[in-house]
Amino acid sequence: MTSIKRKRAELLQSCQSVFRCPLCRSAMAVSQYRSLICGQGHTFDISKQGYVNFLNKSVKTRYDRQLFEARRELFDSREFFGPVQKEIAAIITHIQSPQTSAAVLDAGCGEGSHLAAICKWLQPAFSVTGIGIDLSKEGVLHAAKAFGDHMVFAVADVADAPFADSCFDVVMSVLSPWNYKECSRLLRKGGTVIKAVPRRDYLKEVREFFFGDSPRRNDTADSAAGRFQAGFQTFERKRLCYTKTLAQPDLERLVKMTPLTWKCTDDSIQRFISQKEAAVTIDIDILIGTDPL
Ligand SMILES: [Zn+2]
Repeated sequence: MTSIKRKRAELLQSCQSVFRCPLCRSAMAVSQYRSLICGQGHTFDISKQGYVNFLNKSVKTRYDRQLFEARRELFDSREFFGPVQKEIAAIITHIQSPQTSAAVLDAGCGEGSHLAAICKWLQPAFSVTGIGIDLSKEGVLHAAKAFGDHMVFAVADVADAPFADSCFDVVMSVLSPWNYKECSRLLRKGGTVIKAVPRRDYLKEVREFFFGDSPRRNDTADSAAGRFQAGFQTFERKRLCYTKTLAQPDLERLVKMTPLTWKCTDDSIQRFISQKEAAVTIDIDILIGTDPL
């Protein structure tokens, strides 16, 4: 066994009490630094990068290695979502009084950049256990390679997550599909759910360039906010809107990371990425709820 795998299995073991078997719902424990096993003997192996795959079959998505690499590079080099990540960490710090520990779940973590950045911002106030799950094995592999020394990642379904009831202080979802019922189930009393959703002007310049239209046709922010308002005892909505000016190679990374351009022609993509530079708007609502009703 490599020392990396052993270290990461130890990290998993330190938070094994949050896991429950997705098949029979019983508690799980790390066995011989090789796998997570439930009381009924259902076994899920720990990969050499330290993540666990809870899905019995792989889900084909268009979220491939290139997309996650582009996302991570763009986030790192340009702090594309830096203000969003910083704001989410500030919200958590404000609501959850600093304590010895905070268990934070990123439901739909992709390649782990948001969780890593937010945990970093939280570190001075909290001893954070960061756990990320995603349907995309490619995303989780990338996350485990980059951030697996300090955070735990698993391939799992956010609609049927392999965790015990009420085991997280914070459940968050950043620009990712989520499941309201499941996120509420996982939250401890007094915990916080945070969901970042795109608003009308999110990446409006990209839509203008490729489709000639500006506002998003479906404003998911309003419907998600309605759900929060009806579902939590306290609810807050914060808007963040800012622009980043991108040049090569960040324009190319942007095209690779957004599903917006998946149906566009190579020709139009070439024209977009050969621009000298372009401003891009990030327009996001952060929805905050505590204590599900
Ligand atoms: Zn089981």
